Amino acid sequence: MKAFRTPIFLGIFAALTSCSTVPEYDVVLANARVAQFSGDELSYLPAHVALKDGRIAAVVPAEEPLLAAADTTDLNGAFVYPGFTDAHAHFLALGEALETVDLVGTASWSECVARVRTYLADHPDVAVVRGRGWDQNDWADRAWPTSKALDELTDKPVVLSRIDGHAVVCNQVALAQSGITATSRIEGGEIVLANGRPTGVLIDNAETLLKVAKPSKAEKIRYLLAAERWCVDLGLTGVHDAGLPTEDIMLIDSLQQAGTLRMPLYVMVAESPEALDHWLDRGPLKTDWLSVRSFKFYSDGALGSRGALLRAPYHDRHDHYGLALRDRDYLRSAAAHLASKGWQMNTHAIGDSANRLVLNVYREALTRGGAQKDLRWRVEHAQVVSPEDRALFGGETAIVPSVQPTHATSDMDWAPDRLGAERMPHAYAYRSLREANGGWIPLGTDFPIEHPNPMYTILAATARRALDGHPAQGFQTNEALTLGQTIKGMTADAARAAFQESETGEIRIGNWANFTIFDVNLNEVTPMALPKTAPTQVWIHGERRK
Ligand SMILES: [Zn+2]
Repeated sequence: MKAFRTPIFLGIFAALTSCSTVPEYDVVLANARVAQFSGDELSYLPAHVALKDGRIAAVVPAEEPLLAAADTTDLNGAFVYPGFTDAHAHFLALGEALETVDLVGTASWSECVARVRTYLADHPDVAVVRGRGWDQNDWADRAWPTSKALDELTDKPVVLSRIDGHAVVCNQVALAQSGITATSRIEGGEIVLANGRPTGVLIDNAETLLKVAKPSKAEKIRYLLAAERWCVDLGLTGVHDAGLPTEDIMLIDSLQQAGTLRMPLYVMVAESPEALDHWLDRGPLKTDWLSVRSFKFYSDGALGSRGALLRAPYHDRHDHYGLALRDRDYLRSAAAHLASKGWQMNTHAIGDSANRLVLNVYREALTRGGAQKDLRWRVEHAQVVSPEDRALFGGETAIVPSVQPTHATSDMDWAPDRLGAERMPHAYAYRSLREANGGWIPLGTDFPIEHPNPMYTILAATARRALDGHPAQGFQTNEALTLGQTIKGMTADAARAAFQESETGEIRIGNWANFTIFDVNLNEVTPMALPKTAPTQVWIHGERRK
């Protein structure tokens, strides 16, 4: 890690030597308490912060006279943090979730069906009924749902994604339109059958067999703008989108160029042989708002739907190890190609077997002659990692664990069923992974799988407690992060995981003026008050957005 950092007051010289009568700065944020890191310790510096052309132009001590600016905002001692970034999320999917049937928190399958019925009544014109967020682990009857009640409801196709996106339940109309029958097969996926007929549940790669109409461009624009509103309101000034097809990336770029969408995005390209050809040929895309220089791969499924690939069988399904979504040879050849071209490779790996596979594929590609250096390849989730494999992070290969603290508190009640007591200490081991990585770790939420609120991440990472406060003593608290480590994970470490440490993630001269501002000192907020704490101001690229 770079020893440190431009001294914060460097900009004062520029300020004091100027004697022009035209205000030198666009905006001054007066009387701020500016969050600074020394190691993992957070401290606050009373200062005025001046902005110019969207960037931080000067930071002067609060006792100095105010700098001349076209506009001054008095913060009255508010606490100014570097703008929070979600380092693993699904921005477009959040918008889609906000604009389609919301099934999060349903207590039963019949409640899901009731919400679909209400949505249909409110949206009579939709061609395809989409929804997401159900989780049979939350229901009294934890069996997979079946399409029967949906079949009775409508003759439009219905597709409802599970909370983790790794399974859908759809109606028979959607199956028929897609030509999916009891004899359909796909590698890395499962078409659930009952009495020899598809029930409507499709797991992992089987979802790719669905051929119902995709959302239109106009619908996608609506989704993106809805996601932006939510993110800004919650204090996010940047998002790493963990996998979009080229078509959606180009839509985002065009909206950002037009000034319609004003959220900085680091977008991973959803891998496919065609996408690899397209982007490796054309090279990375970088604007003030968008950076595309990485690919997203999936090596396994999710733990909740028993798709995570484990080294030993599931504790609650003894003949089952999970699903490999991409075989070793495919990942190896992609890795060799990306390493030689200098692209970042980011691979979803949940189970301990998938993590071992990905770490070894990465290591082989990154240590081979011809590989470019410091590619910061990421293991997305790194959820269950055998302790002996942790040493494969960091070091000369610079492989980065990218984790989502709210997964720990969302999964903690049922993960022991899947993993058994012996493997549980290897799961959600964020402090150990951070140490293995040399003292930094990017943090995200995986929204809309989890709520996008970064305060929930702070609660889950530091207190390891759920929103309802349980368990009072915290879950596996030996793996908790400190507040400083957590905020770094959402700012400086997120920037570093996206090669953006010289432009964002810290309050420093020359960086984008991205701030998440609170009236309270987050060090002084008790854990269970965190979810109710919200930023009072949010600035992105020098513009106040909340
Ligand atoms: Zn994800």
